[in-house]
Amino acid sequence: SQSPASGGGWLLILIFLSTVTTLLVPPSHPGPSLCFFLQVLLVFAKEDSQSDAFWWACDRAGFRCNIARTPESAIECFLDKHHEIIVIDGRHSRYFEPEKVYGNNSFLSLHRLPDQEEPSVLPLLCAGFSRRFVENSSVSACYNELIQIEHGEVRCQFKLRACNSVFTALEHCQEAVEITSEDHIIQYVNPSFERMMGYHKGELIGKELTELPKSDKNRADLLDTINTCIKKGKEWQGIYYARKKSGDSIQQDVKIVPVIGQGGKIRHFVAIKRPRMDNNNQVNEIKKNKSHEHLYNTESHLVVTRNAEVSLCFVCFNVQRCKRDIITLLETQVINIINAAQESSPVTVAEALDRVLEILRTTELYSPQLASKDDDPHTNDLVGGLMSDGLRRLSGNEYVFNKNLSQSQLAIPVTLNDIPPSIAEMLNDEEHWEFNILELEAATHKRPLTYLGLKIFTTFGVCDFLNCSEATLRSWLQLIEANYHSSNSYHNSTHAADVLHATAYFLRKERVKSHLEQLDEVAALIAATVHDVDHPGRTNSFLCNAGSELAILYNDTAVLESHHAALAFQLTVRDSKSNIFKNIDRNQFRTLRQAIIDMVLATEMTRHFEHVSKFVNSINKPIAAIEETSTSTNIRNSPENRLLIKRMLIKCADVANPCRPLELCIEWAGRISEEYFAQTDEEKRQGLPVVMPVFDRNTCSVPKSQISFIDYFITDMFDAWDAFASLPNLIEHLSENYNYWKNLDERKCKSLRPPPPS
Ligand code: AMP
Ligand code: ZN
Repeated sequence: SQSPASGGGWLLILIFLSTVTTLLVPPSHPGPSLCFFLQVLLVFAKEDSQSDAFWWACDRAGFRCNIARTPESAIECFLDKHHEIIVIDGRHSRYFEPEKVYGNNSFLSLHRLPDQEEPSVLPLLCAGFSRRFVENSSVSACYNELIQIEHGEVRCQFKLRACNSVFTALEHCQEAVEITSEDHIIQYVNPSFERMMGYHKGELIGKELTELPKSDKNRADLLDTINTCIKKGKEWQGIYYARKKSGDSIQQDVKIVPVIGQGGKIRHFVAIKRPRMDNNNQVNEIKKNKSHEHLYNTESHLVVTRNAEVSLCFVCFNVQRCKRDIITLLETQVINIINAAQESSPVTVAEALDRVLEILRTTELYSPQLASKDDDPHTNDLVGGLMSDGLRRLSGNEYVFNKNLSQSQLAIPVTLNDIPPSIAEMLNDEEHWEFNILELEAATHKRPLTYLGLKIFTTFGVCDFLNCSEATLRSWLQLIEANYHSSNSYHNSTHAADVLHATAYFLRKERVKSHLEQLDEVAALIAATVHDVDHPGRTNSFLCNAGSELAILYNDTAVLESHHAALAFQLTVRDSKSNIFKNIDRNQFRTLRQAIIDMVLATEMTRHFEHVSKFVNSINKPIAAIEETSTSTNIRNSPENRLLIKRMLIKCADVANPCRPLELCIEWAGRISEEYFAQTDEEKRQGLPVVMPVFDRNTCSVPKSQISFIDYFITDMFDAWDAFASLPNLIEHLSENYNYWKNLDERKCKSLRPPPPS
């Protein structure tokens, strides 16, 4: 407060707040707040330079201001607006006594002050006045006074007022929220928490977290990991099993945020929990949604929702069991209606409906968030790890990529003019499915992609098609191969060579050949070669959780696949020496580029079921229908159909390892498991969420993980691909390999191979 100047008049500034507020919320407390407009009431019997100065000071500060001339109008105005600051002119107003001024924030009466008498401080404080201001009609002086009050007491009051809204939000939000003290004593749980866990808050508040029963489904060291992370003041985010009051375990997506108080000390932990969406949750969610008409078929784990505009969306919970049910339902419910409508429609309408049918078969009908209903953690982890990306995000660690190698930086120039005879001989077997890529890897000192690429591209006439020299092709293959990380156990250039091999094998199948054009073949071979270039040996989920540069660049969406495609083109066009596209015309380049990008992006697993289902609907089903009625099996060879075939082709080539001869299949399973283990190791080291906890090198059952991978992703896809391309040998290998893993699992063996007989 200002010291009284002799002869100066007093203005009394009344601020409505309690001292408790100041204790609860330090004025300097940072962080978000609600947006309030500060309101000021000027109680001045007459307009003069002092009241003008406060008026303009309010204007400068952006405060809302009212002026009252009489005690009655002051009370009326206050009761209406509940101003935070009231400035009462104590110089000339002779009708108020400070002791009686302030009642209870809602009643204000003004009384006379003895003329020019300095009011004693105590009765003013008791009356609720917090400051006195010596007459000073400089706008700046008034402004400074108001700003001081705003930054001090008023802000605190706003914070406290905001708490009401914040708690109202907490009480009504769908996430379960639990607040504990720094020593983990539960201080608050919201109604969603009570509902999710089955407890009443009275049973929880005041209890230490350790007193509550725990689920035994969590990894042994999970609590340590969480504690280490949050005690450092960092957020932790991940998957956690909690035990409900009923004793059941519930899998939750959890985020724990430490709340830092004064002096930088952790005061509370706020845990926000959401049940991981499973079958029942999603069914219930959808049941609640009254704007949709719902058709349930819980027997087949299928829910179809139909909204008023007759757009269809599918949420399928057990893809294994009900993919066909969805399609059947789609046909019976919609296609039949359209077919019936076509019969009674004029030709133009019937043609339009034809197009609708085609769109229904080929466009986005499949939710990308097809969740695994499976209780098996291997399946859940694979689905979570491969089919999700930026949903679980943590701030913090960056994943650093290798600098991309350019042509001039290639470490070992490979001259292919004289392919060693042993390699040339090996490559003669390249047309067989049983071709041993691992032998080629060894013979070429881990450069199988260049050698195999040269052979396969030449066989398919790629140089002729692109009008480029063999030297350019060689140089390009070397460049791409050099940008694969040989340090990855799985995603290295041998995997790319393996995918290229499978792609070429599929392209030679009669049915495939007859449906594709040469541009499609060339695009497929190039896409296979580049499809994982510069893969860091970590999954998309990892990169998103780590906040890597690439995840930021690609907005947590198809991060790796976007990078592979983009980098492939950057590398290719950077140097004319290795630019295989340099001699084709612009239009052809654009078509080829589009096809390559589409295929590389199709290898992303979040849209796995969408690609497979579209293929079945648009390619296999029409072929089956034609086969029933005639001897010809030619489906319309539209660009859309070719697109679906190419996507399916590269997808199958990409994950064909479970269909390779047993020894190769085992080696690939070992390599992918090792890469996942290394990721889990790093996630633990860096305190990142572990996206696939079953892939822990100390506990993982490789056979179980392979069984899950085959059951969930492989069997149906290869059945569909075999139905089209006729690949009985692949199905035979797949079945043999599956039995191998089943057998190991039945023997409780967790490793790649059975233990040697003792
Ligand atoms: P890509 O990264 O393009 O190779 O995509 C194929 C996905 O399937 C990758 O995420 C692989 O990690 C995964 N994958 C391939 N083979 C296996 C396997 N045998 N077991 C588990 N996951 C696999
Ligand atoms: Zn791949």
